[in-house]
Amino acid sequence: MSDIAELMDRFESVFGGPPTFAVRAPGRVNLIGEHTDYNDGFVFPAAIDYDVRIVGRPRDDGKVRLWSALFGRRAQFGLGADRRSLRAGWSNYVRGVAVILGGEEYPLRGMDAILDGSVPLSSGLSSSAALEVASCLAFECAGEFSIEPKRRALLCQRAEREFVGVQCGIMDQFISSLGRADHALMIDTRTLDFKAVPLPSSGVSIVIGNTNKPRGLVDSEYNRRRAECEAGVAAIRASAPHAAALRDVSMDLLDANRHVLSDVVYRRCRHVISENVRVLESVRALEAGDLTRFGRLMNESHDSLRDDYEVSCSELDAMVEAARAVIGVYGSRMTGAGFGGCTVSLVADEAVERFRESVGQEYQRRTGREAAFYACRASAGAERLL
Ligand code: ADP
Ligand code: MG
Repeated sequence: MSDIAELMDRFESVFGGPPTFAVRAPGRVNLIGEHTDYNDGFVFPAAIDYDVRIVGRPRDDGKVRLWSALFGRRAQFGLGADRRSLRAGWSNYVRGVAVILGGEEYPLRGMDAILDGSVPLSSGLSSSAALEVASCLAFECAGEFSIEPKRRALLCQRAEREFVGVQCGIMDQFISSLGRADHALMIDTRTLDFKAVPLPSSGVSIVIGNTNKPRGLVDSEYNRRRAECEAGVAAIRASAPHAAALRDVSMDLLDANRHVLSDVVYRRCRHVISENVRVLESVRALEAGDLTRFGRLMNESHDSLRDDYEVSCSELDAMVEAARAVIGVYGSRMTGAGFGGCTVSLVADEAVERFRESVGQEYQRRTGREAAFYACRASAGAERLL
């Protein structure tokens, strides 16, 4: 990806004259707390130093002219237009943000803008949320208004749900908007309260492994898991009326209701309930500097996603197993919705090279696919750079 200086040069050659603002918004990796967000539970993501960048300049005629450096393509729309583009699907994330902001009566201005990004697309690192949050910040710069970061996250989530049409939770836009350098954020997805927890400043790295397996079943299976969780809560509520979501159900309450649940629904609920406990424990482990315990919780999370929630796949399992066999790895798990995408591992710095080599080879031997690895640092959330 081009750095900001290069993007500013590209802006001059595409649109003529200098840009007046530049922004970035990061992708994210969820360290632990998977499939808990739509159950009002806890998640624990970090923003990563892979991001979407937008360099732009306002226009006074209400037009938004975009150039995607990644796709080498243009797109254009007028503020107030609420149609999705079929040809330039990538522009819908920007259009969606414009539609939502326009509906909230922010003083939107048009702009010329060039966008580029280093977040791998469709790999579960949330390039879409990074693009939405960067777009929102770009409109803030162009129109000279500013939106409080939590509200920005909620507006961008609405753009993805209402305009793009993906029924996502709040985690991705939240962490992209509010991330903090060298911290992970424990987010209560019910109240949107959060706690920034420092990651070790040296000695360990977060290593993301991309299985490069397209996430095939993810939409239909995702909807089915949501329905199974809802069915679980509905059955439990008959004897425990306070249970509005699985967040309100303890393991004891679940077990007391086992006879009213099918085996599948029971196991889905067990994953979500145990995962919420693991998130809270992992925060305590990190605060106590106990990386061994943190890594063990990551491993348990993966095993629960594989066995109880059944959202892993042979590629994710192969990569996680290869990672756990490397000395210096504290823990490894799938991250994101599953059925492909990425793993996240906590790795001692001195073991990172060994990790890349050995996991890459073993993964290819077992699956025939080439892995990609990204060693990352926890980065700041969306920010204006110019
Ligand atoms: P994920 O959010 O897991 O990366 P999605 O399918 O939700 O996957 O979003 C990926 C889409 O976001 C891409 O297909 C593209 O349309 C858009 N996108 C993300 N980053 C960029 C970028 N740098 N430039 C243009 N479009 C992007
Ligand atoms: Mg996405």
